[in-house]
Amino acid sequence: MDKANKIEEYAKFAVAVGVNLQKGCNLMINTPIETAEFARKVATAAYDFGAREVVINYKDELFSRIKMERTDISVLSDFKLWQLERYMEYYRGEGKLSILNIYAEDPEIFKGIDANKLSISAKAAMKAMKPWRDLTMANKVQWSIISVPTVSWAKKVFPEKSESNAVKSLWNEILKACRIDEKDPISAWKDNLKSLQSYKEKLNNLKLVELHLKSDNGTDAVIGLADDHIFQGGSQLSSDGIEFLPNIPTEEVFTAPHLKKVNGIIKSSMPYVYHGNLIDGIEVEFENGKVIRHTAKQNNELLTEMFSSDEGASRIGEIALVPKTSPIRKSGILFYNTLFDENAACHIAFGAGYPDNISGGEKMDREKLKDKGLNDSLIHEDIMIGTKDMNITGIDNKGNKHSIFKDGDWDPEF
Ligand code: ZN
Ligand code: ZN
Repeated sequence: MDKANKIEEYAKFAVAVGVNLQKGCNLMINTPIETAEFARKVATAAYDFGAREVVINYKDELFSRIKMERTDISVLSDFKLWQLERYMEYYRGEGKLSILNIYAEDPEIFKGIDANKLSISAKAAMKAMKPWRDLTMANKVQWSIISVPTVSWAKKVFPEKSESNAVKSLWNEILKACRIDEKDPISAWKDNLKSLQSYKEKLNNLKLVELHLKSDNGTDAVIGLADDHIFQGGSQLSSDGIEFLPNIPTEEVFTAPHLKKVNGIIKSSMPYVYHGNLIDGIEVEFENGKVIRHTAKQNNELLTEMFSSDEGASRIGEIALVPKTSPIRKSGILFYNTLFDENAACHIAFGAGYPDNISGGEKMDREKLKDKGLNDSLIHEDIMIGTKDMNITGIDNKGNKHSIFKDGDWDPEF
């Protein structure tokens, strides 16, 4: 394949299908400085599609590390509100706002930095940005997340390769996982979305009240589902009724657990990138929705910090089903990037749930959503828990059992 053309196609796909940019609307791109060249391709594509204005916010992770090392801890909690306002001004202003996030973090950018410093800084940012986060989680704007290789990330995925070969290999894997390497990416995506749609419908028709997850690694938990929950997956509708694709790639069908009805033990099956550090070997025990015990083999203190973010941080807001036959899992590559790794395995998310996982939820406030059982928090952190032998049984409102996952894949009978 002609890679340069494929990268161009990827940029266009992100604009046309990812955020589905409408004529006369503004596009804001959040990108690492390392991927500026790609961001400019996206900007050009956006103007070709009739964007009113394109804005690029560059993020410099090496500077973020310097800042984290050198800034006094008392200053790290002083989050300036212009950072929220740069979104809100466009949100309120002329022409609607769509957002494209290019996520390409060095998974260990903050290795060795005091966990307390990371936590104070992240908490201040999350608290200040909550109004914007609530708007995006309720799909008030069209938003999408994609990834583009950087040297530091690519070297983590392919440590044995040279810098340029690692970047090349990561590009190949990304284009493959995002189906851009297919002859006709649009029709390949249509097939994928159709398949997610059919699982979604089947699950929604069952009127499930809980899911029982069991794996040989020790995961054994009953996840009660929120009242009036609905399964989502694939593309979503904005509050204006415009279809967009929040995650590229996406292989998951997900819904809202009940914040007070999760019981049992869950173990992670892949390392997780949290605040520029890897947390690995997580085991958590739930009682009535809350984590009452946790351990991690690597960076347990960061996990402790994460759970202490707020009351909802030690409860879950999402349970997502991803089969072991997902193309990303089949690639056998550990991406150290949640956007990809969460599409390789079933996962749960600690923290806030999505309003559109509740029937009519986009129109409810967070208090009302809580009454339905939807969790709220400053955080939303997806932890991969799927294993190749995971079984998932659904229990419906009449007490009937339905086998949904058998040995890590959709039960063929389902
Ligand atoms: Zn998910
Ligand atoms: Zn999630």
